[in-house]
Amino acid sequence: MPNLAIKGGRPVRGELLPYGRQMVDDGDIDAVVEVLRSEWLTTGPNIENFENAFAQRVGAKYAVAVSSGTAALHSAIFAAGIKPGDEVVVPAMTFAASANCVRYQGGTVVFVDVNPHTLNIDPACVEAAITSRTRAIITVDYTGQPSDLDEINTIAEQNNLMVIEDGSHALGASYRGRTVGYLTDMTTFSLHPVKHITTGEGGVISTDDPELANSMMIFRNHGITSEHRQRETGRSWFYEMEHLGYNYRLTDFQCALGNSQLKKLDSNLARRQKIAAMYQNAFNVLREVEPLNMLPDRMSAWHLFVVQLNLELLSVNRTQIYQALRAENIGVNVHYIPVPWHPYYRKLGYKKGQWPIAEAAYERILTLPMFPSMSDEDIDDVILAVEKVVDAYRN
Ligand SMILES: *Cc1c(COP(=O)(O)O)cnc(C)c1O
Repeated sequence: MPNLAIKGGRPVRGELLPYGRQMVDDGDIDAVVEVLRSEWLTTGPNIENFENAFAQRVGAKYAVAVSSGTAALHSAIFAAGIKPGDEVVVPAMTFAASANCVRYQGGTVVFVDVNPHTLNIDPACVEAAITSRTRAIITVDYTGQPSDLDEINTIAEQNNLMVIEDGSHALGASYRGRTVGYLTDMTTFSLHPVKHITTGEGGVISTDDPELANSMMIFRNHGITSEHRQRETGRSWFYEMEHLGYNYRLTDFQCALGNSQLKKLDSNLARRQKIAAMYQNAFNVLREVEPLNMLPDRMSAWHLFVVQLNLELLSVNRTQIYQALRAENIGVNVHYIPVPWHPYYRKLGYKKGQWPIAEAAYERILTLPMFPSMSDEDIDDVILAVEKVVDAYRN
C-alpha cells in the first residue's frame, strides 16, 4: 500500500471531494432569471405552483413553503401548539435545529436514544420518556432512511401526541410502500444546497390537515390573518395580527428554482441509490467499516452515507481516520455531535451519559461523500482512500 498522505505520501486525489454539493443546471438558472424579470420577486404565482407540485410529489394534501428547514420545524412546532411547560421528545442524534424549534416556542426538549444499527429514534425510548406534560414527538429520518413511523404513530395515538417528522434527509424516501410526506401529522423538509433539491435556503412542511396548513401559512406571514382583510371589503387596508408570527416567506424566484429542481428529484435519487450500492458492495468485505443497517420495508433517500468504524479492529480513533481521509482529499464529515452535548443544552442542565447508544455511535461515525453529480471515478477514489487508510491502521 502506498504511503498515507497524512504522512507525506501522495493523496488519492488532487482536489478535495466535498461530502455534499448542489446540482444546478441551465434550466434552473433560466427559471430564476425569468422571475427576476417579472412583476413578482416575493410572494407571487410561483409559491403556489411549487407548493402544489411538492405536495403532489410527496403525496400530501398541502405543502407550505418557508425560508429554511429550521423555519419549517419552527412553523410545525407553532402549529402543534407547543408552549412553555410542554415536553417534546427528540432523538439525541440529529442536527441541532430538530431540537431548537421546541425552544423557540418555550417548550422543553426531552432527548431520547436511538437504535444502534440505524441510528434512528428508538420507539421503546420514546415510550419510556412520555410524561403527563408530553405533547409531541419529533422523529428524524436519519441519513434518509425513514424512522419506525408505524410504532411512533401508535405511541402518539395512545398518548394523544402530535408527530412531527423531520424529513430533511428523506425527500423521496418511502416507508412500507408509501412516500414520506403524509405519514405523520406534519413532515418538514430542508432546501439547503446539500439536501436533495435546493432553493439556496428554503424549507417545506407537508401535511394532510387543512387547519395545520392554514396555521403555518399565517405563522410564516407575521401571524397576520388575511381572512379579515377579505371580509372588510369597505376597508381594504385592514388586517389583524392574531399570533406572534415571523417573516418566514420564501421568494418567488426561489420557488421557481424549487419547481425546476423538483423535476430532477427522481434522477437524483436514482444516482444516490447507485452510489450507496457501490459503497455497500465495497465495504461488505471490509470488517473495519460498517454501513448503517437498511431495513427491507423502507427505502432511503440517501441524503448521507454514514458508516460506523469498528474501532476494536483499528489502532487509531475516528478523529485520526477522519484526518487521514481528509489528507487524501476525501471530504469526510461527522453527522452529528449529540445535540444535548452542545454548550447551550449543557447550560440548560442536560448531562452527558444519558444516551449511551447515540453517544457511543458519535465516537465512531463517519460520513462519506454522497451527491448525485459524483462521477464513478469519485466513488472509486473514496473506496480506494478508505481501503488505504484502514489497511494502514488495521490492528
Ligand atoms: C438540514 C437540516 C435541518 C435544517 O435545515 P436548514 O434548511 O438548514 O434550516 C434540520 N434538521 C435536519 C435533520 C437537517 O439535516
